[in-house]
Amino acid sequence: MRQHKSFIIDDCIQVMINLLIFAEKFGNMKNIKIIVLAALSILPFLSYGQWDKYFENKGLRIDYSHSGRQGVDYFTINQMKEIPYYSGSRKNLIDRTDNGAYLISLYEKDSQKLIFSKGVSSLFNEWLSMDEATKMCGNFEEVITVPCPKEDIQVEIAFSVRDSVNNFKEVARYEIDKNEIRPIDFFFKKAKPSKPHLIKLNETGRTVDKRVDLVLIPVGYTEEDKEKMMRDLEKMAGYMFSEEPYKSLKDKIEITAVERYAKESGIGGLKDSEVKNSDLGVEYNTFGSPRYIMTRNLWELYDVVDLVPCDAIIMVCNSDTYGGGGIYNYYATCYMGDRSKEVIVHEFSHSFAGLGDEYSENDSQAGMSSVKAEPYEDNITTLVDFSKKWGYMMDKDTPVPTPQTKEYENKVGVFEGASYISKGFYRPYQHCMMRDLTPFCPVCTKSIQNMVNLYCE
Ligand SMILES: [Zn+2]
Repeated sequence: MRQHKSFIIDDCIQVMINLLIFAEKFGNMKNIKIIVLAALSILPFLSYGQWDKYFENKGLRIDYSHSGRQGVDYFTINQMKEIPYYSGSRKNLIDRTDNGAYLISLYEKDSQKLIFSKGVSSLFNEWLSMDEATKMCGNFEEVITVPCPKEDIQVEIAFSVRDSVNNFKEVARYEIDKNEIRPIDFFFKKAKPSKPHLIKLNETGRTVDKRVDLVLIPVGYTEEDKEKMMRDLEKMAGYMFSEEPYKSLKDKIEITAVERYAKESGIGGLKDSEVKNSDLGVEYNTFGSPRYIMTRNLWELYDVVDLVPCDAIIMVCNSDTYGGGGIYNYYATCYMGDRSKEVIVHEFSHSFAGLGDEYSENDSQAGMSSVKAEPYEDNITTLVDFSKKWGYMMDKDTPVPTPQTKEYENKVGVFEGASYISKGFYRPYQHCMMRDLTPFCPVCTKSIQNMVNLYCE
């Protein structure tokens, strides 16, 4: 499993080791204890120093276009908005999870020091696996919310994509022009910005920087649907804590819903749907897959949460036709019906924890060719570099790959068939929420716990 330590912590541990060596040479045991205790007491302050030095207690929302085709990526900044909250951790500013298809980084211009980074995935990345992406260009809206740099700090933003062996490769870098950042009031010319009506569905008693802020956005509910909407939002919040490890993490995940209404009731995109103007552009049948509910209108979607602390979004869709979707650090969607509980826990684990699908179906040429690289998802391996993965959770005598027999049921192993591919991709367990909507396997459980803790430190 990957380590999530910050460099500052590493630096600090090194300082402590040096102190210990010094104390051992020139002092006695009492001195050593005093020095170690002193070093430990300043550790948390050093970790937050990075935040205090570079950032203000606000968020900076950057809207950009991601365009191109296979092997070609263009990133164009469309607009920058100062928003009241940056709700992520003040301590874990550098993303060490190595997850996501893309990495967005902030550098202080003068020192070229990396001061923030975050891995993300997007609909553009999924579109790349379609045939049309070999012949034509696509253009998709994307959004990243970063901590707002202080007035006197000059910052560059860099966009990186994965190369053929899944290492990040920087493809674009821009200096952030402070004059281009608009205050939130700028976007509310007629009326003062007023906070939307919020419905608290789970309160943690923690501050925004020490919790996961999950925002539920109802989609396709008109004012006449208000009662059903309220019921569905409550249900959805309940579903989130129906499965481990989320059940045990309830005191770390704050759930807030935004009260809002659509002009038309329901979700469009299906042949028999009568919805003409889909609320927030949310529709079934994304990329020709009937159950796949997504929207390309990311900028409009993020307008809904500008004034709300937000680390993750679930769109609660007013439809009883099975469907959903989830992309890492993008958003998740879910229908409201019999299997919504499992569907949202599965989809949220894509969108929040970056877990991969552990099932295999419709082997695609694009997928087969990626067997040469180690996937970045914690719960998938091609055995190209298994040392990064869950080997430490396996019994020594479990063979690799592991036979899918009764003997290895309920044991962590390396089972063939994952990530939509039947050969060459492996998963850690015979059954899992990410494969067949059964309880999470130990590897996914650990990964979700790690991710939640990163937001809470
Ligand atoms: Zn799993």
